[in-house]
Amino acid sequence: MNSLIIRRNLAESIKRLKLSQRTLCTDAAAKVSSSNGAQPGNGRVEQPNFSNKSNPYDIAIVGGGMVGMALACSLAKMPLTKQLKVAIIDSNPAVSNGLSIKKEDPPDPRVSTVTPATISLFKDIGAWKYVEQNRHAYFDQMQVWDYTGLGYTRYDARDVHKDSLGCVVENKVLHSSLLSSMQNTDFQKTIYPSRLSTMTLQPRNLSMGVGSTSSGLNEQGNLAKLDLIDGNSLYAKLVVGADGSKSRVRELAGFKTTGWSYSQNAIICTVEHSVENRCAWQRFLPAGPIALLPIGDNFSNIVWTMKPKEATDRKLKAEDEFVKDVNYALDYGFGPHPNSSTSGGGGIFSWFKTNTNLSANDCFKVPPKVLKLASERMVFPLSLMHANNYASKHVVLIGDAAHTVHPLAGQGVNLGFGDAFALSRIISEGIAVGADIAEVSLLKKYEAERKSANVTMMAILDGFQKAYSVDFGPLNVLRAAAFNGAQYFPPLKRSIISYASGDQRLPIFS
Ligand SMILES: Cc1cc2nc3c(=O)[nH]c(=O)nc-3n(C[C@H](O)[C@H](O)[C@H](O)COP(=O)(O)OP(=O)(O)OC[C@H]3O[C@@H](n4cnc5c(N)ncnc54)[C@H](O)[C@@H]3O)c2cc1C
Repeated sequence: MNSLIIRRNLAESIKRLKLSQRTLCTDAAAKVSSSNGAQPGNGRVEQPNFSNKSNPYDIAIVGGGMVGMALACSLAKMPLTKQLKVAIIDSNPAVSNGLSIKKEDPPDPRVSTVTPATISLFKDIGAWKYVEQNRHAYFDQMQVWDYTGLGYTRYDARDVHKDSLGCVVENKVLHSSLLSSMQNTDFQKTIYPSRLSTMTLQPRNLSMGVGSTSSGLNEQGNLAKLDLIDGNSLYAKLVVGADGSKSRVRELAGFKTTGWSYSQNAIICTVEHSVENRCAWQRFLPAGPIALLPIGDNFSNIVWTMKPKEATDRKLKAEDEFVKDVNYALDYGFGPHPNSSTSGGGGIFSWFKTNTNLSANDCFKVPPKVLKLASERMVFPLSLMHANNYASKHVVLIGDAAHTVHPLAGQGVNLGFGDAFALSRIISEGIAVGADIAEVSLLKKYEAERKSANVTMMAILDGFQKAYSVDFGPLNVLRAAAFNGAQYFPPLKRSIISYASGDQRLPIFS
């Protein structure tokens, strides 16, 4: 752990730190027990957790966003990890207090399309039942096309003998469902409502001796000392960076990254229709894709990628002008509809047609008209980032702290959930064989497993982003060929659906 950057908070006396930490942790634990959707009666009331060198946490999760919470929840559910002593550090009040979510409120514009693989992982840890108590929208159809009018692809869950292709859920619902699920366990967690400031690696106090800890783990090597911005400190054997794309853990641990900005921003918002939308729509426009995702009732979510300046201008436009722009972008704007009804599908590529796809005969459809805005508009800059390493001794990265991707295929948090569940399984396997959970050889198993899955997906998404950002005659024809290949060639279509569903197989013929 030579790469940890060592900085110390000189201003605080140790006595004051410990005292204030005790108070904060007690409060936080009490608040969390009564968070939204949780049933406090079922969970053990947490005692003040007091961390020092002789009583360290097994794991400190820095960042209690969706991915950090998924890790905590998964650890809480597995027999060999549920007795671990875990700290979660996040200043977001939703982590300590939960959120009050009312089904009748208009949907939050921050949503995620979760894949069938993620849904099944959520079911395994008992979190999906909480999602189902709130607004969510399964979709069984998807239509992808571009502005040239040369081709389109319609995907249908029937093609892969499934009920749905995914589900769109508000991020706050995913987050609070994980929190609720974790609350219903005996898990020993302490929430620190603060942010990580610095991190140092400290030698273990030898007078403690080497033996087993309260959780039965091997007690070897060093401890990480985490200093928080509120002046508290804690010690942990393993630090998990789940603190998002600007990860402080990644920075302090000295992990290098590779990546680039797309010079594109995504504008997101909730919109309302006169009918319920049951399909996920995505149209590639010259400046980037626009997606219309069902979110339940008559609402949909818009994720519209464009140049940064355009996004700023559109955010400020009058509502009716913005709605007009959205309908234009999803319908006839920039180019014609693909010619499905006259040729029976496929247009100039009708020779592709093999007729063995259930959805191959599905005509091109026009998305439901947007009537009005139902939320504020938010703008996010888009970039690709990948940490060259996810693990070193005592430190490991998950979720956006390890990788960020373009949202065009709605895969970002699904990859993060994949990380969280893989890490908890590998920690459990390590405990089963008596390994040190902070040992680099164990953490590298996690890195090897997740890196290959994440890098493959990132390469595919980046390729898509680039292929669909160019308006050039021959490339337009190739893109159209790809649409039609996917529309009319069943093995390719099944492969794409299966990969996008999180089955982890490459999109090749299977
Ligand atoms: C426009 C857009 C649309 C998207 N749509 C989808 C989609 O449809 N499907 C999908 O799978 N993905 C989607 N994504 C990606 C997805 O939103 C992210 O992958 C996901 O939010 C990452 O979750 P995370 O928990 O890793 O990080 P974050 O959500 O960033 O959470 C990080 C947490 O760490 C905390 N934190 C930060 N710094 C510190 C610190 N120093 N100390 C303590 N805590 C700290 C923060 O408070 C936060 O709670 C989209 C992204 C964008 C921008």
